[in-house]
Amino acid sequence: MESRINGHTRLYALIGSPVGHSGSPAMYNYSFAKLGIDAAYLAFDIPLEKTKDAIEAFRTLNAGGFNITMPNKTATAQLVDRLSPAAELVGACNTVVVEEDGSMTGHITDGTGFIRNLKEHGVEVKGQKLVLLGTGGAATAIAVQAALDGASEIAIFNRKDEFYANGEKTVEKIRKAVPSIAKVSIEDLDQTELLGQVIAESDILVNATRAGMSPLENVLPVPAEFLRKDLAVADVVYNPRETLLLKKAKEAGCRAAVGGIGMLLWQGAAAFELYTGQEMPVQEVMERFFS
Ligand code: NAD
Repeated sequence: MESRINGHTRLYALIGSPVGHSGSPAMYNYSFAKLGIDAAYLAFDIPLEKTKDAIEAFRTLNAGGFNITMPNKTATAQLVDRLSPAAELVGACNTVVVEEDGSMTGHITDGTGFIRNLKEHGVEVKGQKLVLLGTGGAATAIAVQAALDGASEIAIFNRKDEFYANGEKTVEKIRKAVPSIAKVSIEDLDQTELLGQVIAESDILVNATRAGMSPLENVLPVPAEFLRKDLAVADVVYNPRETLLLKKAKEAGCRAAVGGIGMLLWQGAAAFELYTGQEMPVQEVMERFFS
């Protein structure tokens, strides 16, 4: 590292709280070194109320860009100079690029990362009917990107908890911004019979809730009998790598059972490309840091 850092090295960073567990510094620094890019990546623990200070500091330091994790994603979207269409619709960003003139553009790569990961597993979204479980941060990014990428129908299901209203807003935003979509709806996840009927008519089932993630690792978000061979199943949860839902999807012989770790990898790869204009060495990064 010391042989790489010099008087011109450009700073990239992660902000959020906590960030100590993050694999992002290892992933980006490895990729910078591998491609001979004169840049370094650090993680900074920034509580929500310090988001503005951190962004101003990056302006002062002429950083190249930064990633944002919880809880600062929404606040950052309100503080940058412009947003990508997807970040605008989601109302949050996880990647900010500092442009040549010092202005900042916010992007969200969670949705593109998710869809790229599906593609890597042979699952296309265009023209397909999706059932999406969840209305939190990950689910909103996925709903928006799936709509922008031409999904024919998106049926969102969520518990009637504090996240439900956000799902209703997402449905409205998508209807307005993507009028070509045939249908986008939200229903209560506890309407099990309806959920079963809608899944039976769908091509892809996505779990973007916390169900399945430690300590909810024994929670199956939908009854196992709803899983069938011609359904593709994807989970955003990556801890554990194989969730109970994915295990049941494999047992049912589903055409794909896609875990959340690839979404994490591909959202990072998309940010790397926005920063550098170059492709991240994804295969090596996957083997070194994600397996
Ligand atoms: P969030 O807090 O914004 O949303 C939580 C969602 O889970 C809501 O829809 C809520 O209603 C639902 N939920 C919570 N407990 C539930 C339960 N017992 N049963 C059914 N639904 C329940 O969270 P988020 O940031 O959207 O993260 C959701 C999951 O996605 C987490 O497991 C997170 O680790 C994962 N995630 C993965 C990636 C990736 O790159 N793979 C990226 C972001 C988030």
